[in-house]
Amino acid sequence: MQRIYDTRAGKKVDLVLREPGKVGMYVCGVTVYDLCHVGHARTLVAFDVIVRHLRARGLEVRLVRNITDVDDKIIRKGNAEGRPAAEVAECYADAMSTDMAALGIAAPDVEPRATQHIADMIEVIRRLEARDLAYPAEGDVYYSVAGFPSYGALSGQSIDDLQAGARIEVGEHKKSPLDFALWKRAKPGEPAWESPWGPGRPGWHIECSAMSHRYLGDSFDIHGGGSDLIFPHHENEIAQSEGAFGSFAHYWMHSGMVNFGGEKMSKSLGNVVTIRRVAETHDLEALRLLLISVHYRSPANFTIARDGAGLAVYPDLDEAEARLDYFYRTLERLDAFLAPLAPPPAAPPPSDLATNVGAAMDDDFNSAAAIGHLYDAFVLANKLLDDPKAMPKPERQKALAAIARDARAVGATLGIMLRPPAEFLLSRRDRLCVRRTIDRAVVEARIIDRTAARKAKEFARADEIRAELKASGVELMDTPTGTAWRVAG
Ligand SMILES: [Zn+2]
Repeated sequence: MQRIYDTRAGKKVDLVLREPGKVGMYVCGVTVYDLCHVGHARTLVAFDVIVRHLRARGLEVRLVRNITDVDDKIIRKGNAEGRPAAEVAECYADAMSTDMAALGIAAPDVEPRATQHIADMIEVIRRLEARDLAYPAEGDVYYSVAGFPSYGALSGQSIDDLQAGARIEVGEHKKSPLDFALWKRAKPGEPAWESPWGPGRPGWHIECSAMSHRYLGDSFDIHGGGSDLIFPHHENEIAQSEGAFGSFAHYWMHSGMVNFGGEKMSKSLGNVVTIRRVAETHDLEALRLLLISVHYRSPANFTIARDGAGLAVYPDLDEAEARLDYFYRTLERLDAFLAPLAPPPAAPPPSDLATNVGAAMDDDFNSAAAIGHLYDAFVLANKLLDDPKAMPKPERQKALAAIARDARAVGATLGIMLRPPAEFLLSRRDRLCVRRTIDRAVVEARIIDRTAARKAKEFARADEIRAELKASGVELMDTPTGTAWRVAG
């Protein structure tokens, strides 16, 4: 049975689906006014892993993830750059899709955009009006929170508590401070659509109520998003959708934030870690591994430091990339061991790895524990590979075959280790060479010198070359097909 932490219940519960075998799921997506950064990656990777696991368990998941393409920030950016807001949104929506694909995040089944669902939003607002949950004021339309007594239940706050901290801003025409805009009257220089209340544009929250209803119906199984959206966004979505349709999401899941250690990340410091910035120096799969190495509800650490030259460096990411290197190196060793076996070992039963990871993921998608089990299995694999006498031959072959097979299945669920090991390892070696100013051509030339020395039985000289390379961070591996090399992580 799949257990999930439901934010509204405040505890782990069994996932009971409305329709056996099928999961309807809505995740709040990105407001497209700039390049996506590590914080966006956190939320979308978390839900990607959740969906991957549900699918690996044989469930048919319909994932809807919206794109907010009309919003104050988009309009401001358009004005600053002297181009229409729609063009800004289009440009950054494209960039987001590219970046998310590069992070191995599967595209959602439906990716609706706010501006393409204005009529749906107007329809929801009309329903709310008919139920006395919405009122027009000077061309705006507001939600009347007083008419929805359970407001605050998701974030565990009462209307009275919330009321105490709320204010009516200048220019707002609402009756009560907690009321929020469903529709905003058109202002000069802003995009606007016709509506029963005059020209204007939707408030932010209404789009998710309208689009989840359009693609998932009156009620669906899971609603997800970053924990920063619990209040007010998700609270408002509930008020709108339950107010208009009587029901909404059965379970609420929220992913934790990124904890930026070291320097604080901010636009004014110019150190915003966009996904593209990470890709300049690191493998994006390492970022993915870093983010899933903690439980999706816990904060993920991402330290920004400076090197001697004052350039931004990311120690947590370096560490994750080194761990990924270990994973791929182990897979490469396993492949090299298993490939020549004829006949291949008979299909071994599932290893402890498969069982343990399955149990961890069934328990509220504990990817941190899953990564721990993967690491343990690879430590065991390396031990077995190093020591042919560790087990009788057939058992050893079977155990290694089971780990290789199950590690790849775990990788598919977590969205890691999906490339041929050599591809990752060579690209990492190239990156490390750049980082440490190691000249590949010089290394290759020294390896040729060493091979010649060995042929001439000048072993002292061969050892000298090996030691010299080692001092510069280059490790040599003598294999039956020649000498390979890597840069020590
Ligand atoms: Zn939303």
